[in-house]
Amino acid sequence: MLLPKFEYHEPSTLQEALKLLSDLGGNAKLLAGGTDLLVRMKRKIDKPSHVISLARIPGLDEIVPRNGHSVTIGSAVSAAKLAGHELLSDRFTPLAMAAGRLGAPMIRNRATIGGNLVNARPAADLPPACMVLDATLKLKSASREREVLVNEFFRGPGETIIEQDELLVSIDINTPAPWSGGSYIKLGARKTLEISMVNVAVMLTLQSPDGSITDAKIALGAVAPTPVRALLAEKQLIGATPSEALFEKAGQVGVGTCSPITDHRGTMEYRCMMIEVLTKRCLMQAFERAKSWRPGR
Ligand SMILES: Cc1cc2nc3c(=O)[nH]c(=O)nc-3n(C[C@H](O)[C@H](O)[C@H](O)COP(=O)(O)OP(=O)(O)OC[C@H]3O[C@@H](n4cnc5c(N)ncnc54)[C@H](O)[C@@H]3O)c2cc1C
Repeated sequence: MLLPKFEYHEPSTLQEALKLLSDLGGNAKLLAGGTDLLVRMKRKIDKPSHVISLARIPGLDEIVPRNGHSVTIGSAVSAAKLAGHELLSDRFTPLAMAAGRLGAPMIRNRATIGGNLVNARPAADLPPACMVLDATLKLKSASREREVLVNEFFRGPGETIIEQDELLVSIDINTPAPWSGGSYIKLGARKTLEISMVNVAVMLTLQSPDGSITDAKIALGAVAPTPVRALLAEKQLIGATPSEALFEKAGQVGVGTCSPITDHRGTMEYRCMMIEVLTKRCLMQAFERAKSWRPGR
């Protein structure tokens, strides 16, 4: 399948890219890793007459820690870089784990966090991880700038609140509190190159290694038109003493948040069963990490 004809632009500054986006209107598409866009163009789902590459814009592919308080992740950071980043693995664990499960090594070298979020597939790996980390997305156009919580970003399959003239510049995440730990589990029919049948991301914060749960976040993917937070299950956990029975109950409550479909990857019933099992498992893993939290790592 050949790509349709288009004009290629390679701006070397963010301002130049934003001006192009604004001038070219709906005829232009941004190109990050191209693992979604080029496939859609080959299939004639997207037919932009102009493609604007992000490759030469400085800073978009950088991960910048901010004095232990937060981290700023450029939208063009690849999944491979996220997965291999020591600070992210240690403190922002669900994101590094999810990035390590995206596609296969070749895809991870190209696929970016920005492309994964803007593409907004219900089964995508990175949105649930960003949701449990309360990520803030910085959106910019030629004339304005705004910050949006990732939980408010997704509208439906392939739909977000981003405007045609806006570019996702960065993803900002505050460093989780002491005694926090997280995890991510993806269920697919294969170990690699597989879209999730169900995926679960979790962050837990404890009062102390043997204390109660002071904060809990659970996000589920591939179970509804957008990734969802299991708010009722989170409520059950906050203030409670961690135990296997508590995590099991949270998994059962979490199922109520979802409206999974039956498709070629799995039936609705199987997905519901797996949400329960994997939420419990993910909570257990997050709890183990929270207990072994160490300062200054
Ligand atoms: C073989 C294969 C396997 C895959 N496996 C998985 C998987 O396991 N899990 C998964 O989640 N995904 C998977 N994908 C999908 C894809 O790789 C990811 O969604 C990837 O993260 C997209 O990033 P990208 O940089 O390639 O985006 P692109 O294709 O460059 O862009 C995707 C969309 O986002 C827009 N965009 C990109 N960057 C920005 C920005 N900064 N601001 C505004 N708009 C922007 C583009 O205009 C385009 O509409 C797979 C794809 C393939 C081809």
